[in-house]
Amino acid sequence: METNRSVHRNLIGGQWCEASDVTQNINPSDTRETVGVYARGGTAEAEQAVAAARAAFPAWSCTSPQLRHDILVRAAQEVMSRKNELGHLLSSEEGKTLPEGIGEVTRAANVLAFMAGESLRIPGDRTPGLMAGSDTEVTREPLGVVGVISPWNFPMAIPAWKIAPALAFGNTVVFKPAELVPGSAWALVDILQRAGLPDGVLNLVMGSGSQVGGVLSSHPQVDAISFTGSVPTGRRIAVDCVSGPVMKRMQLEMGGKNPLVILDDADLAIAVECAVQGAFFSTGQRCTASSRFIVTEGIHDRFVAAVIHRLEGLKIGHALDPATHIGPVVDEKQLFVDLSYIDIGRKEGAHLAWGGQRLELAAPGFYLQPALFTEVSPSMRVGREEIFGPVASVTRVRDFDEALHVANDTEFGLAAGICTTSLRYASQFKRHSQAGIVKVNQATSGLDYHLPFGGRKASSYGPREQGRYAVDFYTLIKTAYTSA
Ligand code: NAP
Ligand code: MG
Repeated sequence: METNRSVHRNLIGGQWCEASDVTQNINPSDTRETVGVYARGGTAEAEQAVAAARAAFPAWSCTSPQLRHDILVRAAQEVMSRKNELGHLLSSEEGKTLPEGIGEVTRAANVLAFMAGESLRIPGDRTPGLMAGSDTEVTREPLGVVGVISPWNFPMAIPAWKIAPALAFGNTVVFKPAELVPGSAWALVDILQRAGLPDGVLNLVMGSGSQVGGVLSSHPQVDAISFTGSVPTGRRIAVDCVSGPVMKRMQLEMGGKNPLVILDDADLAIAVECAVQGAFFSTGQRCTASSRFIVTEGIHDRFVAAVIHRLEGLKIGHALDPATHIGPVVDEKQLFVDLSYIDIGRKEGAHLAWGGQRLELAAPGFYLQPALFTEVSPSMRVGREEIFGPVASVTRVRDFDEALHVANDTEFGLAAGICTTSLRYASQFKRHSQAGIVKVNQATSGLDYHLPFGGRKASSYGPREQGRYAVDFYTLIKTAYTSA
């Protein structure tokens, strides 16, 4: 395709800028295929983008909510009307299957539409003050320039759920997507810009994390950072955010090692579906993936046998092949991480009950059979560290109490699930789980866009994302007192 050869440029101050450097966007399902050529900006472009966002802020922050609403609605409509094409692009660059890619694009459109509505519903309070004759108002104001830094695993939905509320509440944005997946990011920005954003309100700087991301998290003219990615990168960004003259507001969504508890009284078919869907679909590359199955003794062997049976029926293949259930790993580096952990698990004494082999298929890609470890003790590295691939471990426990203890025995706290038919255990798990998201008889992954999203412990830092709660991060509260 002709468009694949032309360079997709960065957007700074409303101009698609000439690229001084480029990257090839490689298809992980078939590394012979280049999905497109994308600009690779550096620190200079990042600085220019921050200046453009700063310059655009005063006017944009005073626009009518109706204008912001209408732009987001138009963008939502275009994303939705192009969901098949954009899903194809997303799956080509990230490697999730086409239905998963189209599903993610649909979610991005839904988020844009939801946040369009939120721009009309900015909350506030007006109450009598405590002094006679004093009126008080609590209002929310835009916070300024927001740096958005996103990971590769949800290349359109995560940018949408950060950029849409930023814009809805009157902020300007500099957006740095993950280098591995510039295509979906570029398409989203192009759509938003053509939907009517004034120049400089949304700026796109594709480029490396340390350079472009580093400028955003340390620049004194950036007021806030919304980041999703790994814990080590999040920590570094947090240090940058508080080291400058102005301590930035930050929202960090990071890794997980999410448990799925299966009790003796669980419906086996539901438990297997939750486990396989949550751990292995999207190639296990979801922050909410369940990578630890914590299973009580009475159901353990039946559960493991049924999961293996289900895994045997799954086809690993090209993301765009309609027969494929699980696409490739995103790149060679992540494949190496996954294989290294499979090796570590074996050496630690866990039993590799199924899979874990690299697959050579007709198309050269990063294919990996899902791996299931059993006899994993909670102290093993495969049971503690985030792998971020299709690798899950089974830990055998006596009863609910031990299951709950093992589930909470982690530095992470993003999502947790339980499969049980007992109201009592379901209620206790919801109450005592140390995770931000708890699921009962549902896979830990797969979440509603109108609800708050985020975790606890090392998984998250700062206010929640998404739904009506997004306003807390993207606005500043002012308390005003008036005597007339
Ligand atoms: P990552 O390596 O931490 O990268 C995330 C983003 O940060 C990328 O855009 C990256 O740029 C950028 N970055 C890297 N170094 C930086 C620096 N020094 N300063 C500023 N930005 C920098 O994470 P990933 O490998 O893309 O994504 C996988 C991780 O994301 C997993 O840990 C997963 O659990 C987590 N995740 C969490 C959630 C959640 O909501 N909790 C959702 C999805 C994913 P480049 O990579 O382009 O260089
Ligand atoms: Mg990375």
